[in-house]
Amino acid sequence: MSLISKDFRLNQPQSHQRGYLRIRWALLTIAFVGIGAVVANTDSASEKSKNIASSELPVFNPTSATPEVLAEEMARDSFSLSLPELQAQQKILDDANNLTPKQWREFKVKSGDNLARLFKRANIKPQQLDELMKSGKAVKTLRRIFPKDIIRVLSNDEGILQALRYDINHKSYLMVERTSGVLVAKTYNHTIETRETHASGIINSSLFLAAQDAGISQNVIMELASIFGWDIDFALDIRKGDNFTVLYEELYRNGEKISDGNILAAEFTNNNKTYRAVRYTNPQTNRSEYFTADGKSMRKAFLRTPVNFTRISSRFTVNRYHPILHKFRSHKGVDYAAKRGTPIYSAGDGKIIFKGKKGGYGKVMIVQHGTKYTTLYAHLKTYNRKLRVGSKVKQGQTIAYVGSSGLATGPHLHYEFRVNGTHRNPLTVKLPESNPVPKRYMADFELTTTPVFAQLNLVSRAQQVALVDTTNN
Ligand SMILES: [Zn+2]
Repeated sequence: MSLISKDFRLNQPQSHQRGYLRIRWALLTIAFVGIGAVVANTDSASEKSKNIASSELPVFNPTSATPEVLAEEMARDSFSLSLPELQAQQKILDDANNLTPKQWREFKVKSGDNLARLFKRANIKPQQLDELMKSGKAVKTLRRIFPKDIIRVLSNDEGILQALRYDINHKSYLMVERTSGVLVAKTYNHTIETRETHASGIINSSLFLAAQDAGISQNVIMELASIFGWDIDFALDIRKGDNFTVLYEELYRNGEKISDGNILAAEFTNNNKTYRAVRYTNPQTNRSEYFTADGKSMRKAFLRTPVNFTRISSRFTVNRYHPILHKFRSHKGVDYAAKRGTPIYSAGDGKIIFKGKKGGYGKVMIVQHGTKYTTLYAHLKTYNRKLRVGSKVKQGQTIAYVGSSGLATGPHLHYEFRVNGTHRNPLTVKLPESNPVPKRYMADFELTTTPVFAQLNLVSRAQQVALVDTTNN
C-alpha cells in the first residue's frame, strides 16, 4: 500500500503561495507571544522513500554520446547545479568541440522587471525576444516571471541568444536551445523523490513555537492550521498541553531536500478533544482534500446569501457613486434590501471577532471562518444579544437584524466577504466546498486511508511515550 500522493502542492501558481504568505504573517504575529519549553520529536532518517516522478531525460552515457548529445545531457543534468559548476561543465564541452569557452550567465528578475529589460541587461538584441517567444508553446511560462526568479542565458558576442533556462517550479524547468540555427523551447521534468516523514509536538505557549522546536517548516504548520482551522481557533483556543502529530512528504532532487510536500495525515488534540484528518484524492476529479476518518470534509460550508432579501440594491464594484457622500467610491460588498428587523444569518460556522460601531457602517458584526475567511455584516438594527466577541456561531444562526444604522438610505444589509483579508464579490466568490467523500469512493477511501491512520496512531503513541519519559526526567 502506497502512501504516496501523486500531486504536488508546489505546482500551484506562485501567486497562490504569495496569498498564503499574508495569512502566515497574520498568524505569526498572533502566535509569537510568550516563550516556553516544548517537547517534540521528529524522525525522518528512517523513513522509506519512493521515486514517483520519472525523469524524461535519457541516461547520460559519455562513451557513446556525440558532442551535441553530450552538450544537451550536460546542460540538462546540470540545471540544478550552481552557476560555477554549470560553467565548468560548459568549458569541458567547449574544449571537446574546440570552441571558445561560452559563459552561462545568471540574471535575477527584479521587481517591475520584464524579459525585455532583462535582455537589455544581458546585452542580447531586442529582436531576439520575438524569436524566443516564437520558439514553442513551452516558452509561455516566461510570460509569468516573478521577482527573484533566476533566468540563465547563453549568448554570443553579437547579442544572439544561444540558450536559456528557467526553473518553472521544483518539478520542471524550461530549456530553450538554438539547434540548427533555430530556437526550440521544451519543458523537462526533474526526478523528484518523495519521502515520508513525521513530526510531533506539544504546546506550551504557541503552536508556532512548538512547530519550530519540532523542526517543522512554516509551510507545513500553516497547512496544518488551515486543515484544522475550521474546528480550532489557533489564536484563542490553544491550551498548554495541546499536542499534534503530522505525517507529511519531503521532496528531494538529486538526493537534496528541496522542500516539504503535502501533509498526508494529521492529528491535533485541543483541550482534550482530538481531531484527525487525512488527505484523499478523488480518483475521478484528481482533487485532493482533507477528510475525517469517516469521510466528512474538514472544511465547513457557506451560505451564499446571509439574509432573506427583497432585492439586491447595490452590487460589488470598484467604482460607484455614493448617494449620501456624493462621491465615487468602490463598493466592496453587496447590499441586500430587506425589511427592518429581518434576521441575518451567519454565512458559515465561525467565531465573532468584531461587534460594535464602525463609522458609516453603523452597527457591524464580523465573523471569522476557518483561517482564511471573514464575513462582515453592516447597518445592523440590533445584534443577537447572546453573542459577544469570541462567541462561536453556526452556519445559519441568527447573529443580527437588518437596519439602517450608519450611512444608509434605507434598511438593508451591507455584506462583505474576505479571503485572506482581500474583499471578494460575495455573489461570485468561489466558496469552499465541504462535500464528503462520494459514496461510490468510500471503499477506496477506507482502503487507502486505513494504513495512513494506522501509521498516525503509531507515531502519536510513540510521542506520548516520549512525553512521559521527558516528564519523568
Ligand atoms: Zn453597501
